[in-house]
Amino acid sequence: AKRAGPGEVQMYDMSMQVEMTARMRMERALQQAQQNSEFAVYFQPQVAASGEVVGAEVLLRWKDEQGRFIPPAVFVPLAERCGLIRPIGEWVLKQACEYIATFNRVVPEFTGHVSVNVSASQFMQTDYEQSVRRQVLDTGINPSRLTLEITESAFIGDMEDAIEKINSLHAFGVRFSIDDFGTGYSSLSYLRRLPVQELKIDQAFVRNLGADGRDLHMIRTIIEISRYMGLDVVAEGVETELQRNTLEAMNCWALQGYLLSPPLDGPAFLEWVRDHRQ
Ligand code: C2E
Ligand code: CA
Ligand code: CA
Ligand code: CA
Repeated sequence: AKRAGPGEVQMYDMSMQVEMTARMRMERALQQAQQNSEFAVYFQPQVAASGEVVGAEVLLRWKDEQGRFIPPAVFVPLAERCGLIRPIGEWVLKQACEYIATFNRVVPEFTGHVSVNVSASQFMQTDYEQSVRRQVLDTGINPSRLTLEITESAFIGDMEDAIEKINSLHAFGVRFSIDDFGTGYSSLSYLRRLPVQELKIDQAFVRNLGADGRDLHMIRTIIEISRYMGLDVVAEGVETELQRNTLEAMNCWALQGYLLSPPLDGPAFLEWVRDHRQ
């Protein structure tokens, strides 16, 4: 193998530095984003085979000072690393609860639940439970309208603590959903111990439906587990009629994806619900 010359080494260091500087600049921008109201919550409908809108997932959007859209896949991990996910997560939860109250007033025909993504690091905070209760009580919403989407990574740290939190918030009335189900490392056995109400089939499984037989089996298995355990099951990333038909034939409870609707801002979601009145 050819050894890197001095010039190349320097190049490498430079690009590392460029990356570090870019990340630090982004972290600073992230810190200011909240004060500057650069965040917004969007809602993506979840629709049952009957056409009923059974829920909506809240998806965070960041449009920075220059009006550039930065995807959550980029800034959420960054916010987790620099400790900002906590205030941002609280803000999202507050928005979600306030919107539920608004939906009750302006589109009472929408009785579905609103799902909020919760980072594992946020969920593991000691005062997380308290902050959920406070937001629910402050807005006066029925806690059963709120679903918390957690990933299997939330159980990796302290399983007992996670179970306690879920039990307690479930007793309070909040719903729980396991996001990206089947992509994590956990074993199935935890499902027996957790009072979750919903599983979400990751879009990675949905994407190759029809092309890859293994993904079809995986999805069928998740839907069967849900049925045995009395859980709702939502498939995300549904983009084609083939995917929709296949999932509906397997009795998947609800579908979410561009085929049904992209994520919409608050007013657009309200309109969408009105247009899809049964
Ligand atoms: P996720 O929870 O798996 O969310 C689903 C992602 O799929 C969203 O990406 C959504 O816009 C996208 N999507 C919806 N329909 C389709 C489709 O038909 N095809 C494809 N290819 N994609 C579709 P998004 O909004 O970019 O969010 C990415 C991830 O960022 C989310 O993945 C979630 O893990 C995280 N995230 C988003 N909002 C929040 C938040 O408020 N808090 C936390 N902690 N994480 C969030
Ligand atoms: Ca999610
Ligand atoms: Ca997901
Ligand atoms: Ca996903």
